[in-house]
Amino acid sequence: MGYFLDNIEAMAPYVPGEQPPPGRRVVKLNTNENPYPPSPAVLDALRTFDGDPLRRYPDAMAGALRQAVSEVLDVPRDWILPGNGSDDLIMMIARACVAPHRSVVYPTPTFEFYHTQARIEDARCVEVPLQEDFSLPVDALIEASGDVTFVANPNSPTGLAAPVDALAALADGLSGLLVIDEAYVDFADGDALDLARRFENVVILRTLSKGYSLAGLRVGWAVARPGLLSGLLKTKAIYNVGALPCRLGTAAVRDQDYKNQCADRVRASRDRLAGELGELGFTVWPSQANFLMVRPGDGDAGRVAANLKERGVLVRYYDKPRLGDKLRITVGTEEENRALLDALAAARGGA
Ligand SMILES: *Cc1c(COP(=O)(O)O)cnc(C)c1O
Repeated sequence: MGYFLDNIEAMAPYVPGEQPPPGRRVVKLNTNENPYPPSPAVLDALRTFDGDPLRRYPDAMAGALRQAVSEVLDVPRDWILPGNGSDDLIMMIARACVAPHRSVVYPTPTFEFYHTQARIEDARCVEVPLQEDFSLPVDALIEASGDVTFVANPNSPTGLAAPVDALAALADGLSGLLVIDEAYVDFADGDALDLARRFENVVILRTLSKGYSLAGLRVGWAVARPGLLSGLLKTKAIYNVGALPCRLGTAAVRDQDYKNQCADRVRASRDRLAGELGELGFTVWPSQANFLMVRPGDGDAGRVAANLKERGVLVRYYDKPRLGDKLRITVGTEEENRALLDALAAARGGA
């Protein structure tokens, strides 16, 4: 007993979405994975990967990945910090910038890992409710004046995106760090990358997990001014991106056409699914991501999620303030979305 710090003892663990064992046939619309396979260039790189480099330590800075990201995003290499997924970058930020006498601010509801990291560092956590319509409460976030402010944009689980102007106003109004988590940016109409150039307190996070169909690979990166990244770098695990993820991630980043084609298909399916769920009596919020936040007509989201699960369709239900009457549904392939709609119709008919 007594091995753990008091704050670790007291905190609730982060609970990932359910991952059914391989081989079980389910329609998996609960963790925002991309329904399409990774780029053929990634699969080629996997097949032709020479095992000998695995004997050695990888490049600690994942130089090939950094170079590819630098070219694709048109930012200098030393503005890019590679991560073992964006979770890893969030942890680096927390280690470098968060402590008991400091505050972490984020709008709620949002990605719960920001809260998890704040608890681990035993920091003061300030949760600022999103506005009534779930838009970003810029003035209240400025008012909270966090040492670190996290904004997922597009946000999860709402799917809403704040305009760049609002994020710029936020960056301008804060003296602490503003972390803009762009995990879903590949499905959105715009991005905030330029704010990393315009503001010295802005860090942009990107990942291969969603847009690039590579959640299992664990690769992401941060974009910020070199002065900022050099501080974060001190908290990085030495070899946080393995040789194989670096090689495959580089191939993925270099195939923008494929990623954009898949994202376009997801966006088209998203808009179609939004219309169809609307016809079934769901309230559907306007999403810029690869999922939809919806409210069933009777508000009994827990029951709908349980009914769907019985019919082999997994969606995400959060028994949390402002979310208890809603579901977050990942956009799948056309066939998966059809299976979802059929399951909803069957549940309604009591079949
Ligand atoms: C899915 C998601 C991530 C991705 O994390 P990875 O560690 O890169 O897989 C980050 N932020 C948000 C808000 C997400 O929903």
